[in-house]
This record gives sequence, structure tokens and C-alpha cells, in this order.
Amino acid sequence: MEKLSVRNARLPEHVGRQIILEGWVRTRRDSKAGFSFIELNDGSCMANIQIVADADLPNYADEIKHLAAGASVRIEGELKQSQGKGQATEVQASSVHVYGNSDPETYPLQKKRHSFEKLREWAHLRPRSNTFGAVFRVRNQVSKSIHDFFQERGFLYINTPIITASDCEGAGEMFKVTSLDLNNIPKKDGKPDFSKDFFDRPSYLTVSGQLEGEIFASALGNVYTFGPTFRAENSNTSRHLAEFWMIEPEMAFLDLQGNMQVAEDFIKRIFTDVLRECAEDMEFFNKRVDDTVLETMNKIINSDFLRVTYTEAIEILEKTDHKFDYPVSWGIDLQSEHERYLTEKHFEQPVILYDYPRSIKPFYMRCNDDGKTVCAMDVLVPNVGEIIGGSQREERLDVLVERMKEQGLDPEEYWWYLDLRKYGTIPHSGFGLGLERILQFITGMTNIRDVIPFPRTPGNADF
Ligand code: ATP
Ligand code: MG
Repeated sequence: MEKLSVRNARLPEHVGRQIILEGWVRTRRDSKAGFSFIELNDGSCMANIQIVADADLPNYADEIKHLAAGASVRIEGELKQSQGKGQATEVQASSVHVYGNSDPETYPLQKKRHSFEKLREWAHLRPRSNTFGAVFRVRNQVSKSIHDFFQERGFLYINTPIITASDCEGAGEMFKVTSLDLNNIPKKDGKPDFSKDFFDRPSYLTVSGQLEGEIFASALGNVYTFGPTFRAENSNTSRHLAEFWMIEPEMAFLDLQGNMQVAEDFIKRIFTDVLRECAEDMEFFNKRVDDTVLETMNKIINSDFLRVTYTEAIEILEKTDHKFDYPVSWGIDLQSEHERYLTEKHFEQPVILYDYPRSIKPFYMRCNDDGKTVCAMDVLVPNVGEIIGGSQREERLDVLVERMKEQGLDPEEYWWYLDLRKYGTIPHSGFGLGLERILQFITGMTNIRDVIPFPRTPGNADF
């Protein structure tokens, strides 16, 4: 006897074999003719497999007839061609071992459909529902595609630190890391004395691994990071988490146009893999969550991303009759409403905006000759807005130092970053993709809390 996943047991090629299945009961129906049907799911796929359990099984009356949704079982039996509709196979059980029954009075995931909001309160059980099973299978596939894409192109996977002393974005939205006793903070001149703290200085959870990524790109060529990222932004939106996963490639000897091409190829690769490997889950999202996801993904795979400068985008936004909450003028940081207007209404396809005003972008982005803009790019997609942010990095030492001063940063604190420009500086570029943002896009799930196993948001770190 061989153990099969439900996914494999649903394939007709295994018919005739004696198999073992382990999983959780979704439903049980008793037939008057003296047997029961059990719908079994083990998380390997969306669909269940039907188990036929005859009344002459020794534990039929005591156990099998009481199996309820959520119960865990081990089935042994023969895989047969199914007479029923909608399935190729079923199992004629020779043994049903019950690991644990489930109380039908109190088990939250009964047949009734719950709102996604309600299911967030049951973060420990929601992976057992159809929707969340599908979300996390797709999440797994996306993670795999990310590694495949970069590994096939010879990028090295590197791990940048989670605890850091530098604030890459300068946004001040960082969680502090300390081992000081908060009830008795050592003080010096009225301020916390961080020389007594674990790292002898203020330290934080990272908001990005980019600067460290640049170190490795300046030695090993193309690299990428894929890890958790933290932002203490108190924005309770459907697109922001306090802890999310970011993918950050950093590419040596590459300019902004090349960077855009990698970003476009990368997104298309992920979509192509998901459509092929998660067809059943994607059908489900298309039917139950958002009936445009399949069409949109296919359209994106088959179209070239538009490349539009920030300045052109502002002209478009200034000309339209569409009313925005936040007024448009050259120099503003684009708001979500602007980004979505461009990608959803005006272009109706993904757009890469580039060459943003230097005043709204971080110090490390390469200055253009116009003196006004930097080599930044954002990839915008319908329904989500910004999904990728990236840039060509400033590789000229003098320009970089000037930019740091302009933004009130102390170049001495970034001595190692400047060293990269002193010793064999290279043109290089990179971007950051939020894993949860692309998952939102793929699945059509409107709230980012529903595409990560345990969402961390203001006021919520329960599980
Ligand atoms: P936004 O304007 O949406 O806050 P950002 O400009 O702060 O994004 P970047 O600093 O460029 O974003 O980060 C790179 C990517 O990380 C973004 O394109 C997005 O996909 C993702 N991202 C940023 N902040 C969050 C967050 N709080 N939760 C989830 N994903 C995020
Ligand atoms: Mg932000």
C-alpha cells in the first residue's frame, strides 16, 4: 500500500491500486443502502475525494457514522473509477482510522460560508477553508517561481539582515529593536542611552535589504533577497502590512531600462507558472472572488508593459476631467487614486512610470542630467496600483554625497555604502516586489490580510 495525496488520488492513472489517504473530513452523507460517503480533503488540492465506507467496517456504527466536518482520518482502500459525476476516482475503504473527531456543535467551519473578515478571527482554522487553501497553494507557487526565475538566470540568493542600524528609506517607519528594560531606561542627557543597549546604538527591524544587496551585487554580480520586511506605518489600508515579504533583485552593470525589462519578465513568468500549476485554484478565484482575474493575467502575459515618464503621467492626470481627492501637479508623490486611474482607466493595462522628481525619492537613486529627476521606476497594475518600486542606483561618488547632504543624511554613517563607489563602482539597478501585493493581484483578494498566513497590522498580532 502506498500513501497518495488527494491530488494524486484524483488522477485516473492510479485506479486499481491499494492506497492510503490521510486528511480531514469535509462532509459525510449516509445512504439508506447501508454505507456512507465521506468527502476527504488533505490540502493538496481544492477538490475533495469521495470515500465509500460500507456498514460492515468494524467501527462503522461507533465511529464512521459520527464523523463530522473537521475530523481527521486515515483511509486505506482501493482506488476505483467513480460512477459519480465531477470526479474520476473514488476510494472503496477497507479501513477508516479516526485520529480525532470534531465537535459539530462548535466547529466554526461548517457548511455556512463566512466572511473573510470573520475568518481572520480563526487564523488557526482558515487554511482549512477552500478559499484559504487556494490562497496558500498559490502563495507557495509564487514563491517557487520567484526562486526559479532568478536561479535560472544565474542570480545568487542572499540573506540580508533583519536587524539593522540603517534606515534605508529614511521614512522613519521602523520598529525599534532593543533589550533595554522599558521600565528603567538608562538615560544620558535626558535621552535613552543606547550605548547600554544590545547593539550599542539604536537598531531596527529592516524596511529593505537593498543597501546590503548592493554590497553583494558589487562583488558577485546579480543577486536577490527574499525575506520578511517590517514597516511601522500606521496605515490601516487594504494594501499595507506591518510585516510583509519582499523580493529584491540587485543587478550589476544594468541601467534603468534593463531593470524595467527584468521586472516585466519577472511578473509575466510568475503569472504564467501560476496559471499552469494552479489552474484549479485560479478557476475558483475567478468564479468566487473576482471574475476578471484570469482574463487580466492572460492579457498581461500577452502584452508589453507601457513605459511612461512621470512627467507624461502628470500631464495625463492634469488633463482628465476625473476628480481626485489629492490635487495633481508636477512634483507630487502620486497617490493610489492617481496610480489606479492611470493603469485602470487611462491605459487599461500595466504601466511602468519612470524618471520621478528627485525631491520625492531617496538619496540612492541615480540623478538624471536634467537636474530635476532621478532614475526611479514604479510598476503599476490594475486593482492594486504600485506593485514594484525600483531604480538605477547612483554610482558617482560625488553626486551621491551631494544627494545625501541634500536629504540631511550624514555621509559618514554610510561610509561602507560610499566605499562601493570608491572602489570599482559600477552602474547597477534593482527593485522591490511585495509578495503580498502580487498575491492580491493574482487571487483578486481585496484585503492584503487575506493573502498572508498571519497578518500583522496596527493593533493585531494575535496569532
Ligand atoms: P506604498 O506607496 O504602497 O506604501 P512604497 O512606495 O512604500 O509603497 P517601496 O518602499 O517601494 O513601497 O517597497 C517596495 C514594494 O514593497 C512595494 O512596491 C510594495 O509592493 C511592497 N510594500 C511596500 N510597503 C508595503 C506594506 N506596508 N505592506 C505590504 N507590501 C508593501
Ligand atoms: Mg509606503
